[in-house]
This record gives sequence, structure tokens and C-alpha cells, in this order.
Amino acid sequence: MTEREIIGIFGTMNAGKSSLMNLITQQESSIVDAAPGTTADTRVTLMELHGIGPVKLMDTAGYDESELLGEKKRKKVTAALKECDLVLLVIDPASPNLPTGKLLLEQSLAEEKQILVIYNLFAPEDEAKIAELEALLPALRQFPKMTVSAILPEMRSRLLAFLLDYYIPKNNPTELLPFVQPNEFYILNIPMDEETPPGRYLRPQAMAEEYITRHWAYPVSFRMNLGKARRNDPDEKARWESFLGSLKRRPKVIITDSQAMDIMKSWTPDDIQLTTFSIMMINYMSRGKLADFATAVRVLDNLQHGDSIVIAEACNHSRIKEDIGTVQIPNLLAQRFPGVTVQHIFGREWPDEEELKRTKLVIHCGGCMITPQRMAARLRDLGKLNVPITNYGIFLSYVQGKKVLEQVLMPWKV
Ligand code: SF4
Repeated sequence: MTEREIIGIFGTMNAGKSSLMNLITQQESSIVDAAPGTTADTRVTLMELHGIGPVKLMDTAGYDESELLGEKKRKKVTAALKECDLVLLVIDPASPNLPTGKLLLEQSLAEEKQILVIYNLFAPEDEAKIAELEALLPALRQFPKMTVSAILPEMRSRLLAFLLDYYIPKNNPTELLPFVQPNEFYILNIPMDEETPPGRYLRPQAMAEEYITRHWAYPVSFRMNLGKARRNDPDEKARWESFLGSLKRRPKVIITDSQAMDIMKSWTPDDIQLTTFSIMMINYMSRGKLADFATAVRVLDNLQHGDSIVIAEACNHSRIKEDIGTVQIPNLLAQRFPGVTVQHIFGREWPDEEELKRTKLVIHCGGCMITPQRMAARLRDLGKLNVPITNYGIFLSYVQGKKVLEQVLMPWKV
């Protein structure tokens, strides 16, 4: 999946948001009509912007729509605002709707977004109204701004130059596996089961393999038969030892599927480090915040009867039998912390503020199917309410004991 800058276009109804989207994309990706509320939902276009790179552009509904449908659209606009890196606030100076503009500015600032103001002129004389508008809403003066007539194609190059001048891209600077050095061997332990999709590795597995290879090191995969290993089948242990023994050079780190931690804690030789794909992924998706996830798991030390835990899984893969998020982790919680309640969140779902306030701990998967920006929005939501968040790999290591948790964090120096 390509890392994209996310640019959201926001404003009131009929401010010219869809025209601006079409101007940038050079196509009718958004329906433009004078009827209020033409953009029924957030419209997304993926494209490459010269000088910025791959971007996801979002054209959102008017934030000032009324009634029930308007409320639903507003929630989607808020979700888009939380996710994006850059807010393009589109204002028609001739009919500005100040309270809505003020609200959008406040929300963008609260979410720590970069903001650029675009005054969209439907008639040249509207430019004269900008000073009056800024006198009524002085906060607008602090952001870079430009005027356009978004329906004129010749405005496109000026608009793109403006974006290039003022936008500071936020592409993920975090290394996936910062400890990898050239010529080292790494083992990827990949137990395949009924949930494993045919024809491809899961995204974290594929990313690890590609990263190690790209950095001139050597990824070697082992398919563990988890059922046999858990039944203490001597053939499976012998197969593992024969595999390890066949490598002329000792591997530096074993990266395992987190669900195999109950086996790998004792099968990993002392001279080889151990971590999990889930830990790798959450560090990458959260832009290096692994230490926070590791600290948060300590909440489990003091869990009480009646406490509520959210298990958040960022995709909707088919769940069969011993699924980690819906079966294995809930079973471990029930055994270790009787009386604790568990709520599941899948895909792009996310609890509202009231639900989060009741949550003692969030246990999140690696999050490979959402954007780092969406992950950042989740962390901000939780941070505001002081709700700790940990991760599948950290949790599954924690339940194997303090030493095992320290072991899987060691490659990350956390
Ligand atoms: S989104 Fe989460 S559960 Fe789904 S594949 Fe990625 S890490 Fe695994």
C-alpha cells in the first residue's frame, strides 16, 4: 500500500469545494451543481501531485447542512478532518457563513492540522469582501491563503504552486525494521491456517520480507505447524531445529506471528532475538510510538472485575475458528481477568467519546489496513481522554510473562 499525503477539502455548502476538487484532479470526480448539498458523501480520488507525491484527495459535504441527513454527513466530514494531513478550507467571500467557518477552523486546530485557506471567487468583485470577512473572523489571517475561481482550468497551476509552497508533507519517516543491517539473516515465522489468504502473504509479512531484502539482508521464511507445535509433536520441534541448523550463519532476529508466542518463547535460542509482526507494524503505523503501547499493557496488572476492554482490528478478514482478535485474545482475557467485558471494533469503526471514556484499555492489531493518519487520529482521540492503548503482539507476549515481553521489545530498544 502506498503511503499517501491526505488532503481534505472542507467548507460550507456551495462554497466551491467540488469545483476545487475537479480543478486539482482535472476531471469530474465530484458532481458540481448549484443545488445545496450536492456532495452527498466524502468523495475520494487517488492521484500523484508533482512535488508532493502520492495523495489521497477528499471532497467533503457542506458542514452547514441541516436536519438528520446533514447530521450524518457532518459526522463523515469530522472523520475526514481527523484523518487528513492538510485542510483546504474553501470560503466564498460573498456568502461566507462565519459560524461554520469558525467551527471548521477550531476543529482543524484542535486536531493539529495544517490549514490553507482558499477564497473561491464566483465574481471578480467578491475579492473586495475578503478584508471585511477577515475583520469578522480574524483567525483566518494567520493561515496562508489564495484566491481562485475554481471553475477556471487555467487556475490549476497557480493552485498547485500554492500547495507546493506551503504544504509540509508528513510522509512516514519511521523505518519498518530499524535494526536491519546488510548481510544479516532474519527468520520470518509464518504459521499458515484456514484464515491465511491464498496467493499472498499478509501485508505485514510481505512488508517485512521486502524491507529486509531491500536493505541487502536475507529474509528466510519458516511455516510453523502451530497445531502440531502446541501438541508438543516432536516432529515439528525437530523440523524447526533442523531448519535453524541448516543456516550457516546465525539469524539476528526471528519475527513471528504473534499468536505463536506461546511456542516461540521457548523455541527461540538465547543468541537470537525475537519480536513479532504485530509489534513491528504498530510501531510503523504509529510513527515510532511503540514505547507508549508497551507502557499501556501494564494497565492489565491492575484490571478489576467489570472493567471494559476494546479489541480493535483494522480490517474485516474472514474469521475462522481460532481467530486472534475474536477468539484467542478474548479467551486469554477471560482466563486471566474474569469479569472483564470485551467490545470488538472492526475495520474503520471507532467508538465514540462516551464509549471510549468507559474503556480501561484498547488492544489494537498491527493496523496495517488503515492509514498512519487514521492511526494518529485514533491515538489523539485516546490521548485526549487518557485511555491507554496497547497492541496484539505486546499483549500476547505479556501473557507469556515479563521476561518474554522484555525479549520481544529488545530489538526496538524499548
Ligand atoms: S489490519 Fe490488523 S488484523 Fe488486519 S491484517 Fe493488518 S494487522 Fe492484521
